[in-house]
Amino acid sequence: MEEIICQGCGVHIQTSFPDRAGYTPNAALDKETILCKRCFRLKHYNEIQDVSMSDDDFLKMVSQIRDKEGLVVHLVDIFDVDGTLVKSLSRIVGHKPVILAANKMDLLPKSTNRNKLIKWLRTTVKEAGISVEGVYLISSVKGHGMSDLTQAIDDHRNEKDVYIVGTTNVGKSTFINKLIQKTTGTENVITTSYFPGTTLGFIEIPLDDQNAALIDTPGIVNRKQIAHYISDNDLKIVTPKKEIKPRVYQLNNQQTLYFGGLARMDFNKGERQSFVCYFSNELSIHRTKLKNADHLLNEHRGGLLSPPDDETLRRIPELTEHTYRLEYEKMDIVFPGLGWVTVPGGNVTVTAHSPKGVHVSLRKSFI
Ligand code: GDP
Repeated sequence: MEEIICQGCGVHIQTSFPDRAGYTPNAALDKETILCKRCFRLKHYNEIQDVSMSDDDFLKMVSQIRDKEGLVVHLVDIFDVDGTLVKSLSRIVGHKPVILAANKMDLLPKSTNRNKLIKWLRTTVKEAGISVEGVYLISSVKGHGMSDLTQAIDDHRNEKDVYIVGTTNVGKSTFINKLIQKTTGTENVITTSYFPGTTLGFIEIPLDDQNAALIDTPGIVNRKQIAHYISDNDLKIVTPKKEIKPRVYQLNNQQTLYFGGLARMDFNKGERQSFVCYFSNELSIHRTKLKNADHLLNEHRGGLLSPPDDETLRRIPELTEHTYRLEYEKMDIVFPGLGWVTVPGGNVTVTAHSPKGVHVSLRKSFI
């Protein structure tokens, strides 16, 4: 295909990958003014749509903002903090003040202890070497927490620009579209602007009369997210859409829980107790004896233990295991992108199995 450039943002037009930068359907190539899908929606609907870029392109683009002044709002998905926290944030954005906004709070049970959660988020970002001005819990879809966050943004930006940064699927577009609705409601508020040397324009939403803007950056692709290993159909099943209903299993040691056929937890040693599972309500959980667990997976993966569907089975890496000794009470074993299990008692040994590359982690429970 001859090289065509989007007249809105300058990206190279392509017709093969709808989620990537520069996509245009074939039929739109005959038009006089050729726009990529993102710019088309921006122009006609004043609506932002996320596109993803390769890590290299992203770094090139975002490094443009490293030396600029302004505030960074880093959006993470509260259901998958491990998969959506950008650990290299400071390297990418330089020494700007950062506000952390944890999105999709509507998915967590109402019994969530918000103070504990905020404390845990603060520790987690600190461990990643990111210092934050504040941590906010929001739901972009429901609009919860948005007023406090917008107030904080205003307080911390010192009349400078605001950069919204996050991995794909954290809800960046939903968030920005909600902000636009709230603050303006007028047409044509969104523009694209070039930073010298970038191929893709940043999307800008004017904030005030001082030339400051809210700037959307493309979604960062994190290869460790489980979303990259499973089919769209399976992703729909494992991604919660509603408040998660915790499922409680009374287990004796030497019993195993399967989360579909995507992950597994073996209870090796410890007193009989209840394990509380926080996964999408649509993901089936299956209990079995540890001694039968391998056989069950071999025979029934993709059937009784599903997802995975056929497409996921072709793509997903093999399960790898890691054994943990939990000394303390109320620890969570986190399967990034899938969910977590709260183990109430201490003195417990469990083995967690997850697809290779999707690393299981432990944390103190915040529920
Ligand atoms: P982006 O890739 O970061 O721009 O993410 P999108 O805004 O396209 O959202 C990705 C998915 O997450 C969509 O299915 C949204 O409906 C969903 N989503 C976004 N914000 C929220 C939220 O606050 N709560 C819930 N439950 N889902 C959300």
